[in-house]
Amino acid sequence: MADCLFCEIVARRRPAEIEYEDDEVLAFRDIYPKAPVHLLIVPKRHIESVLTLDPDDAPLVGRLVLAARRIGEARGFGERGYRLGINCGPEGGQHVYHLHVHFLAGRRDERKVERR
Ligand code: AMP
Ligand code: ZN
Repeated sequence: MADCLFCEIVARRRPAEIEYEDDEVLAFRDIYPKAPVHLLIVPKRHIESVLTLDPDDAPLVGRLVLAARRIGEARGFGERGYRLGINCGPEGGQHVYHLHVHFLAGRRDERKVERR
């Protein structure tokens, strides 16, 4: 899609530090990391936002989450864990309108706090 930052990264027309790729998914480092490991996991196909998600996109969203699992295991967070986040729309803090999952790891507060 024209003028989409993440489509440009997928097409390799814009530089990024790519950390994972398969036929439908790409993951690269966030340029302003908010954790020791901060990656963005995106579908190669342009999908705007959860706000406009089509039910037909459900398998692809599943692929994003499974890519997160593979990345987590490959980087040694398979048991320690990590945080996944999707910002949705203007009041949800979404700035780039190409669906992306934030993968944050490597800091204790990235993990869920147990409530007893
Ligand atoms: P969001 O606010 O959820 O839309 O997240 C967009 C994310 O993209 C932010 O965390 C930015 O730091 C990140 N970002 C913006 N431009 C780039 C870029 N060229 N390469 C990698 N990450 C970027
Ligand atoms: Zn795009």
